Amino acid sequence: MRYPHVPWLPLLFYPALPVAAAVALLLWREWPPALTLIVPFMPWAMALICAATCFMYQRSQTLALMLCVLAATAAWPALGREAPWALGHAMAWWALVYAINALWSERSSMLVDTAARTGLMALGAAAIALAGKDGVAGALGVLSVQGKLGHLSVPIEGLIALLATGLALTLLLLRYGRPQQAGQWLGFVCMAWALPRGAQHPVELALMSTAALTALCVSLAHEGFHMAFLDELTGLPGRRALNERLQRMGGRVYALAMADVDHFKAFNDTHGHDVGDQVLRMVAAQLRRVPGGGHAYRFGGEEFTLVFPGKTAAECKPHLESVRRAIEAYQMRLRDKPARPKADQLGMRRRGGRDGRNARPLRVTVSMGVAERGDALRVPEAVIKAADQALYRAKDGGRNQVCLYSLRRRPGQA
Ligand code: GH3
Ligand code: MG
Ligand code: MG
Repeated sequence: MRYPHVPWLPLLFYPALPVAAAVALLLWREWPPALTLIVPFMPWAMALICAATCFMYQRSQTLALMLCVLAATAAWPALGREAPWALGHAMAWWALVYAINALWSERSSMLVDTAARTGLMALGAAAIALAGKDGVAGALGVLSVQGKLGHLSVPIEGLIALLATGLALTLLLLRYGRPQQAGQWLGFVCMAWALPRGAQHPVELALMSTAALTALCVSLAHEGFHMAFLDELTGLPGRRALNERLQRMGGRVYALAMADVDHFKAFNDTHGHDVGDQVLRMVAAQLRRVPGGGHAYRFGGEEFTLVFPGKTAAECKPHLESVRRAIEAYQMRLRDKPARPKADQLGMRRRGGRDGRNARPLRVTVSMGVAERGDALRVPEAVIKAADQALYRAKDGGRNQVCLYSLRRRPGQA
């Protein structure tokens, strides 16, 4: 299994079809009438699938965002006809609610959470409706000013709110990069594109909201895949991904290395689990950069696996040596927060200067054992077992070294 460097990138392709259809509609106005009849129902069909997925994964946040999209799709054409003065405020409120829902992570039970989110959404909509034309403008102290966006006239407060929410969601996505945030971002972009034109072009709005709902729904499934295959602590693919990869390699040649952090228990016992986790993240980051076309996985605990497709054990040994040396040379400096004295001068003296140059470095090393798939080791379990035996030899031999599996040295054999 291959993992893209940016895990949410494949998501961009899912809503491509409705977006392409909306663009086609924009360029080519004479659509077959039957299609124009079907399109308004598409968001509702997609919303049903999305709602079922939300209940399956217990996701009130996505459910609320979905309702947000659906409410705008249903209300916009009517709003454009009956109360065009409210479009600007409604657009601003919609963008604000979308942003709040995306930033507000799930805390309580699904029912309470969904009720709070939809209540918030309804409150603003009711306030706009009740206040009426003069009331809203008077209460907010703003007038709906029409801004120009190409040949389109857009209420300025709506435009500002859309841009601010777009910026917030982009920053969130760049900071955390989770598939779910990518879905929320994409859903928002589709709607932000469609809403300013939505009152006059309900078919385009329906297409774009179908795209938005598809993005939200697919991102949930993608998040599930992400959680099942990637290890949360280190960001490396986990054991499940390794098993799948080995299964797909079938009868092809590959080398497999097992790497184990030396005396790792001591890091946990001496410095606490936080430092232990930091060590695991550092080792994972180094292993990820292994040269020679190797792929790193977290096998479990403080054990990692490296797979080199098409290589023999002897061929990948120099690459393993280079990553072993990189880990050994890594300057990891400890900054125990509870032990840090309050007075700055004293703290600096103990830490060894302002930049921590003399701070106590942590020496981390790994041992590795490597074996290759061949006539003697045909199935993945046998290759892993052989690499493990070579790893024991590396440990017995004094740790911080790479050992090759050899049939002659197998325990119990002469
Ligand atoms: P050796 O050099 O022989 O490999 O010794 P070791 O201490 O590394 O090996 P041992 O198997 O005794 O210790 C592994 C420890 O790893 C025990 C467990 O508490 C710790 N551990 C496993 N997973 C995690 C994790 O995700 N985070 C942290 N902080 N510790 C973990
Ligand atoms: Mg171990
Ligand atoms: Mg260990």
